[in-house]
Amino acid sequence: MNYASLFEKVQRGHTLSQTRGVGILRSDVFARTHGIEHGFSTRLGGISPQPYASMNLSLTRDDSRENVLRNYRIFFDAAGLDIGRAVLVNHEHGSNIVRVDSSNAGQGLFKEPLPFCDGLITNDPAAILVTLHADCGCCYLFDPVNRAIGLAHAGWKGTYRRVAESLAKSMAREFSSRPDKMLAALGPCICKECFEVDEGIADDFVSEFQYESLKKPGKPGKAYVNLESALILQLCSAGIPPENISSMGLCTYERSDLLYSYRRDKGMTGAMIGYLLLTP
Ligand SMILES: [Zn+2]
Repeated sequence: MNYASLFEKVQRGHTLSQTRGVGILRSDVFARTHGIEHGFSTRLGGISPQPYASMNLSLTRDDSRENVLRNYRIFFDAAGLDIGRAVLVNHEHGSNIVRVDSSNAGQGLFKEPLPFCDGLITNDPAAILVTLHADCGCCYLFDPVNRAIGLAHAGWKGTYRRVAESLAKSMAREFSSRPDKMLAALGPCICKECFEVDEGIADDFVSEFQYESLKKPGKPGKAYVNLESALILQLCSAGIPPENISSMGLCTYERSDLLYSYRRDKGMTGAMIGYLLLTP
C-alpha cells in the first residue's frame, strides 16, 4: 500500500461552537453527514475549579462527583441532548467492544458501569454513546447503510491493540456493516510532535503497523509516536477507504486553552468526552 497517498486522502477540519459558554468541537465531515449527531467536549463552560477547570467530565479524578454530574447536565443541555440516554464507556486501554442499546442508558453515570470496554456500538437511536479522553484518541464510526454507529477510546495501548479496527469489525459482525461503506472521524489527541515514549514502544508500533514513519527520534532512549496515523492505518486495514476517513486535526497537548492533556498536566487534569448518536 502507498502510505503517502493514503494519508493525503484523509480529510481534515473541525469547528468549535459555543452555546452559553460551553464549547463543542465537531468534525466538519461528520457535521454535514445526515443521520448522526456527534461532538467532543472542551474545557469551556463548566463549573469545576482548577486544576480541573472547568468542564471536567471524569468521575475518576479528584474533583467532586457533584461538580462532574453538574458539568454533564450543563454540557448535555448545551448540546440539546438528554443526559438520561448517555451510555459511558468503561475503558481499560484494551480493545474490547460492547454492543449497547437504550436499556444501558445511564450506565457509568447514574447506574453501574458497563463491563470493561474501550468501544461501544449500537443501532439504537435512543442510546447516546460516550467515551472519555485526555490525550487518548477518539474514533467515531458511522454505517449509513445499516444505520449503526461505533465510538472508541484509543489510548496508545488501545491503539496498539487495534481498538479502532475492532470497532469496525464488531459493527460488521453485529450489524452487517460493510467497511467500504463506513465513514470514520477522529477526534483530538496528542500529536506526533508531542507524544514522546520509550523507544521500544515506538519500535513496537512500527513493527505492528509496518510503517517506519510512525516513529520519530527523540531524546536518547526515547521516540515520538504518531497515534493518529496508527489509527488511520488500522481503519484502512479494516477495509475503510482512506477518503472516508477524516480527522479534527487538534492536539490536546498544545491546546491548554481548550483541551485537557494528561501528559502536559502530569495527571492533574480533567477529561473530555466524545459522543455519538443516530438521529431520525
Ligand atoms: Zn502536539
